[in-house]
Amino acid sequence: MSETSDRAIQRPTQWSVRGLLLLVAASAIVLTPISLMVRFGNGHPVSMRDLARVQMGMSKSEVQSILGSPDDETDEYGPLIWTYAAFTWCIVRISFDQDGRVIEIDHDH
Ligand SMILES: [Zn+2]
Repeated sequence: MSETSDRAIQRPTQWSVRGLLLLVAASAIVLTPISLMVRFGNGHPVSMRDLARVQMGMSKSEVQSILGSPDDETDEYGPLIWTYAAFTWCIVRISFDQDGRVIEIDHDH
């Protein structure tokens, strides 16, 4: 029984199918991070086009409607800071004054 299946695996056509599958798997491994990076704007946590639309003095809800909800929110250092973090080196921070208006836009690599 096992002799039959061993022989089936060793058929040349089986090997070429396996090679093709390996090739497909390898290209998926290589291409997935690239497509993710393209999707998220070359590794930025928000799209640069959207970030350019955020202006000083905007309200929190205006910022949220453009960039979405922040990944992190803190007022530990004084002003309220919204942080958008990517899986890469890049961080975008939006700071708000006490009235909830944008006072600083920081895009750090
Ligand atoms: Zn960036």
